[in-house]
Amino acid sequence: MFGLKSKSNKSAEGAGGPTDVPIYPMTINGAQVDAAEHRTIFSPSTGEPVGQAPVATLADLDSAVEAANAAQVEWSRASDETRREACQKIAGIIETNMGELSRLLTLEQGKPLKGMGSEFEVGGCMAWAGAAASFELPVKVLQDDETARIEQHRTPVGVVGSITPWNWPLMIAIWHLAPAIRAGNAVVIKPSPYTPLSTLRMIALIAEAVPPGVLNVVSGGDDIGAGISGHDGIAKVVFTGSTATGKAIMKSAAGNLKRLTLELGGNDAGIVLPDADPKAIAEGVFWGAFINNGQTCAALKRLYVHDSLYDDMCAALVEVAGQIPMGDGLDEGNLLGPVQNKAQFDKVSALVEDAKKAGGRILTGGEPKGGPGYFYPVTLIADVSDGVRIVDEEQFGPVLPIIRYSDVEDALSRANGLDFGLGASVWSQDMDAARSVAERMEAGTVYINKHGEVLPHVPFGGVKGSGVGVEFGVEGLEAYTDIKILSFAKAG
Ligand code: NAD
Repeated sequence: MFGLKSKSNKSAEGAGGPTDVPIYPMTINGAQVDAAEHRTIFSPSTGEPVGQAPVATLADLDSAVEAANAAQVEWSRASDETRREACQKIAGIIETNMGELSRLLTLEQGKPLKGMGSEFEVGGCMAWAGAAASFELPVKVLQDDETARIEQHRTPVGVVGSITPWNWPLMIAIWHLAPAIRAGNAVVIKPSPYTPLSTLRMIALIAEAVPPGVLNVVSGGDDIGAGISGHDGIAKVVFTGSTATGKAIMKSAAGNLKRLTLELGGNDAGIVLPDADPKAIAEGVFWGAFINNGQTCAALKRLYVHDSLYDDMCAALVEVAGQIPMGDGLDEGNLLGPVQNKAQFDKVSALVEDAKKAGGRILTGGEPKGGPGYFYPVTLIADVSDGVRIVDEEQFGPVLPIIRYSDVEDALSRANGLDFGLGASVWSQDMDAARSVAERMEAGTVYINKHGEVLPHVPFGGVKGSGVGVEFGVEGLEAYTDIKILSFAKAG
């Protein structure tokens, strides 16, 4: 197995454990770099140690930012073809190493290898890296007449700091770094302290696609994230994570007026209209809610169902839930794994207990499975409504509240009533009716008869408390550039 030989295990952030698991080093300026302290990462399925991540100091971050700024000079001048080839090379390296990366991702994150799990995620990394190569940022001629020629160019924004969460660690890392590199920027990425290993390994592999210093990874705690958002050597921060952290980043980014892309929390509502067919939509609703165990920003997190088909919808969802195997992700028969970490497991458990006290009816699940591992069964809760925590707060776990409504206008106003706006969905056989509701839902993406799909060529982002800016597509690439105008006077 890859990794530096373990030499010490001074644990960080409460994590300790044996020393016979490999250290996955950081990549700074093209070199593999270790730290004095390490954090041991344990499998959320078995509790067994998986590997160790260096716990970077702020001095390590400074080295990475310095290397990135030095590399930025040449990389920003590299030809479009060179940058495009780098993205394609990244996709190729990921493809070559898919087996190793998928397995490591399953070990540390918990998601199954199969289904919409690790292999799906690593496949997504290839797709997004390849897509970054395909987008164009042409010079636009805004005016060309006898008085002036005015051109609009896109120039690299400068060194990008990327801060990622633990739910889709590899895919989100690629979402950040591929367009940044394509646009001519160097990157310093910091993975979540819960899931650093797969990112450390992926960057060690793909950094060779670009000159030393263009792609750096620094693993550590939240302090390294805060160090990035306040660092004067970083021009832009792209962050995916909670709304609370996004707000903290926005404040500390003010020092040098950093550009920001913030992909934050969601509490996506789905509205099932009275004409929908519960049996036909049950599987789509289920996976919209339970993809990655609900630990997905744009998962369906509140389902509003019309009174006339409420019981049928509940029954159809219970039937689907009963067919989905959950367990250790390395067992290829499983389609759902554990909750990724204890804090999230405790949050999910507390929200379900609170819902029960508020009169929620457990249709399936509702109690932790018991160890080893943070397994919480798929849980469907009926007869809860707005004002209960499981509806109002982002659960980010395998629980779906099903809320009864009798008036579509009322459902719409409840769906729009929270300070979130990432995704939303409408479920109906009548496309006109669905469109009319979809047009009034407050979200960056409104899906009709599906939920949560993301595509490399389609801009994705949140409104209200769910974020600032978009990723993906040409608009996502433009977010890694500044506009520069060349304005030529013509002799009059
Ligand atoms: P989090 O905000 O706790 O942590 C995310 C990252 O921020 C980690 O790397 C963490 O170390 C770092 N961090 C923590 N404090 C920081 C600070 N003060 N300054 C800078 N960085 C700091 O989020 P999480 O628990 O890892 O992820 C779950 C959340 O992410 C959910 O709310 C989910 O909805 C959201 N999410 C959003 C999207 C999206 O595209 N909108 C995608 C995935 C996850």
